[in-house]
Amino acid sequence: MQDKYNRTIDYARISVTDRCNFKCTYCLPNEVESIDNSLTHSEILRLCQNLVQLGISKIKITGGEPFLRSDIIDIIRDIKNLNGIKEVTITTNGFLLGTHLEELKTIGIDGINISVDALDRELFYKITKVDCFDKIFDTIKKTQELGMKNIKLNCVLIKGCNEDEYIKLAKLVKQYDICIKYIEMMPIGIGKEFQQYSLKELKKTLEDEFGALTEIENKNSNGPATYYTMDGAKGKVGMIGAITHKFCDRCNRIRITSQGELKTCLQYSAKVNLRKHMCSDNLAQLIRNEILNKPESHKFNENSIFNEEIKSMVEIGG
Ligand code: SAM
Ligand code: SF4
Repeated sequence: MQDKYNRTIDYARISVTDRCNFKCTYCLPNEVESIDNSLTHSEILRLCQNLVQLGISKIKITGGEPFLRSDIIDIIRDIKNLNGIKEVTITTNGFLLGTHLEELKTIGIDGINISVDALDRELFYKITKVDCFDKIFDTIKKTQELGMKNIKLNCVLIKGCNEDEYIKLAKLVKQYDICIKYIEMMPIGIGKEFQQYSLKELKKTLEDEFGALTEIENKNSNGPATYYTMDGAKGKVGMIGAITHKFCDRCNRIRITSQGELKTCLQYSAKVNLRKHMCSDNLAQLIRNEILNKPESHKFNENSIFNEEIKSMVEIGG
């Protein structure tokens, strides 16, 4: 369906838990406690059935850490089997992913994003508070051995922290058919306390090292990332710059938090909790009305706005 600014909304990000086994510095501050009252398997399915009716065909499973749910594979399988769903992908920190890869391949998962903000073991630990870089990297290699497609490594640009990792990460696309997706820090939750490292700086850093990046035309997606190839690369790099490259005019997404709130823009708090309307015949209509009223754009560059989101990313799902 289209919102009132003629944007086609076909993508929903669903946070299936606010629990996490990592404590990334920019996402999960010590004082945030899990409410752990996440949407149930059947609630998630019911929401997806209603989203499909509205033309939403791409679902991203996120969290918290989705693999902390024991029913996560069943959830993905059931969403994949819904008529009208074209794509189900997942974002994970990778810690529990390794043992599920074969199942995910069998189900036909359409893509996996694994968060890797550093290839340096100690820095990885400093950012995540879990000393498990080798395990994560073995899992990434296993995705390649299994021939899994659309594997992306998410790297958040943490100014003053992981700049030395950007070139190292980009080198991986010479070796593997994966995508390194660099994400500007978003001022949500504790992310507000960080400074921006801009994509302009990043692009210059990569081009100084590897030569010109060639933009790939991405006709199939009106998503926010810009993708590039590099000379001699098997994979590609992607950049998402919500702040310095505002892409609200191309926004194709809504978000559902782990508690069932419907968010039509990352910056604003939700007005509706879908969980309360789960048994209503008007659930799809309710979602339609919210989509129609999706804000025209975020205002992250303004000092304060009405109705600003106070939740942390771990609840929202990135
Ligand atoms: N736990 C999973 C993971 O880390 O991939 C999924 C949930 S996590 C909230 C989803 C994505 O949001 C991750 O790639 C994470 O790095 C990113 N993220 C978290 N806080 C962010 C922020 N303030 N700005 C930009 N990206 C953020
Ligand atoms: Fe957990 Fe992902 Fe947030 Fe890190 S980014 S604390 S892994 S939810």
